[in-house]
Amino acid sequence: MHRVYLDNNATTPVLPQVFEAMRPYFGENFGNASSIHHHGQETRAAVESARESVAKLLGCSASEIVFTSGGTESDNLAIAGLAEAGDHVITSSIEHHAVLHACKHLEEIGCELTVLPVDGRGLIDPSDVKHTLRPNTKLISVMMANNETGVLQPVEEIGKIAAEAGAYFHTDVVQAAAKVAIDVMRIGCHALTISGHKIHAPQGIGALYVKKGTKIRPLLHGGRHERSRRAGTENVPGIVGLGKAAEIAKQALDCGDDKKMAAMRDRLEQGILAQVEDVGVNGGRVARVPNTTNIHFDHIEGESLVIALDLKGLAVSTGAACSSGAIEPSHVLIAMGLKPDQARASVRFSLGKQTTADDIDFALALVPETVARLRELSPAYKRQAIST
Ligand code: PLP
Repeated sequence: MHRVYLDNNATTPVLPQVFEAMRPYFGENFGNASSIHHHGQETRAAVESARESVAKLLGCSASEIVFTSGGTESDNLAIAGLAEAGDHVITSSIEHHAVLHACKHLEEIGCELTVLPVDGRGLIDPSDVKHTLRPNTKLISVMMANNETGVLQPVEEIGKIAAEAGAYFHTDVVQAAAKVAIDVMRIGCHALTISGHKIHAPQGIGALYVKKGTKIRPLLHGGRHERSRRAGTENVPGIVGLGKAAEIAKQALDCGDDKKMAAMRDRLEQGILAQVEDVGVNGGRVARVPNTTNIHFDHIEGESLVIALDLKGLAVSTGAACSSGAIEPSHVLIAMGLKPDQARASVRFSLGKQTTADDIDFALALVPETVARLRELSPAYKRQAIST
């Protein structure tokens, strides 16, 4: 069966060049990067070269990069490592659970926590950050791009507010990296999270930028790896893969590939809006990353649409979570003010580097007829059709 993958915000395929760069580190170049002999020196050089590539993507020094096991660990390291009991922490209602739950854990151990709302467009208002500052505000954690809607947040303004208040600023750029340019100095952050598998490197590798001079308590205790910020023998193949993916991402951004991606995403979005009635784009009125569109298809269940499309070869997703057997609507869409039914009717399409114009044509041929078929089966849609 012909299959098209438009769920790149969940994970991306490892690029062939990334895989090739990693390959020797599973075999002949097997050394422990902490060993002083030839084998160790070989892998140490590869780790440090990857650190340079990641630093170039983010506009920082290599010594400010800490390799971790992924976005979740980087978020937890930043949040648990920069705030402690008695501190006030500010975050937003649309963060990934890696941030929201790490902040909730801080609250359980004695931090004060403020969770900021977003408006109907999915945007945090920087003046809300300013108004919730307290004398003991230690950390502000706000993401750069939302994983469900792709909406870009005003992180530079928030960075300035944090600097004026003398608070740390952490931003999760897992869904922004490789899609838009990132410069840690312009953002004004003390810590910044990226994840390998969202930028065509493998799963299980990530990094945290930690600004020079920022004291961060490690999560893991052990050896003095990563300048005592993250203990544990380095995942050398993963690190090499992340470095290669960062290098490719930087070149692509410099060549304007993000604009080509946005044009494909817009064609998909406009095509669906033109062919299907009772739909709308969640977060469509503000700046977004170029690869994401989140659309509510009223009167149907997003989960049913995801399953029906998958049966025909198209992989997309909903932001819904299954909790205790029931489908919970996405916390992001609910925070934006969508009614639970509309949030449950929403589906995310996310493009990757491997996405082609033919993939978009495939999706455009499939989505309208599949929505129409599901609506024919939907009692809610029939009731609405009779009453209008
Ligand atoms: N932050 C955001 C915004 C994400 O989208 C994700 C993954 O979906 C994560 C953090 C977690 O990253 P990882 O899967 O590498 O732990």
